[in-house]
Amino acid sequence: MALLAATSAWSQPVRGSLDVRWNEGAVDCKATPQAPLQVHAYEPQTFILRQNPCASFEANFLYLLIGSDKALLIDTGAVADPKEMPLAKRVLELLPEKGQNKLPLLVAHTHRHTDHRAGDPQFGSLPSVEVVPIDLEGVKAFFGFANWPNGIAHLDLGGRTVDVIPTPGHNETHVAFYDNRTGILFSGDFLLPGRLLIEDAAAYHASALRVVDFLKARPLTHVLGAHIELDAAGHVYRFGSHYHPNEHRLELAREDLAALPAAFETFNGFYARHPNYILTNPNRILLTLAIIAVAVLIFIAWGVSRLVRRRRRRS
Ligand SMILES: [Zn+2]
Ligand SMILES: [Zn+2]
Repeated sequence: MALLAATSAWSQPVRGSLDVRWNEGAVDCKATPQAPLQVHAYEPQTFILRQNPCASFEANFLYLLIGSDKALLIDTGAVADPKEMPLAKRVLELLPEKGQNKLPLLVAHTHRHTDHRAGDPQFGSLPSVEVVPIDLEGVKAFFGFANWPNGIAHLDLGGRTVDVIPTPGHNETHVAFYDNRTGILFSGDFLLPGRLLIEDAAAYHASALRVVDFLKARPLTHVLGAHIELDAAGHVYRFGSHYHPNEHRLELAREDLAALPAAFETFNGFYARHPNYILTNPNRILLTLAIIAVAVLIFIAWGVSRLVRRRRRRS
């Protein structure tokens, strides 16, 4: 009964459509010119922007949420040059008027990796646009996190609240955004159909528990991340590929999020495969390979010097 009361306290999310086929890039991008940016209206106040895999192999997903007083852009993608990627121009076109001007815009980031903020300079000089800093101290100060990574911040866009949840682990500055209007969790690189690259496994695990706990009594319609790196059969695309044929669906579900804490509890520190994502620590794998390579070289050098000494003794 208590659970029912808690659940019904949240209003029904506004439904939208994910019935879209994302451009798949190409084997030969020069021979197959494609629009750099694809825009899909999930519902009239929520836009999904996808950077073409030919424009950047990262092929980032960016999200524009419109409130009645303000709009929020989550991430600015992997391409800086407005001629190659007219992001700011396209975002301004999507913003409604407010009085004589465009609706004010807040540009925030899931985290400071370059592919999530390269487009920032396009917004720097625009009127009524504010860009959240990318460094950890700046993020904490902007959102008002007094006890990072604990606590939840709230953005009021006017009739639309977006909760900001600290999710370090992939990167120390990572946050996820929960939209109360649509019930979507915008999860950046924290959770996506692809490689979950782990920088700090303990922090990542704690973040997974924090998000699961935050959403346990709230409606969750979709988890939308920043990349798709798997095809529909679950095979991972080669790193750096500009061609994404037959992509896995963008959206993940509550089950995928719910399985994340346990995935960390059994993680061997290197690699683990789950149906819709892969846990991996590339730095640790590289370090281990480097140690093995050095050990092999030392062994070979030792073997060669032994051989040389034996030959000398014989001669
Ligand atoms: Zn990242
Ligand atoms: Zn990324």
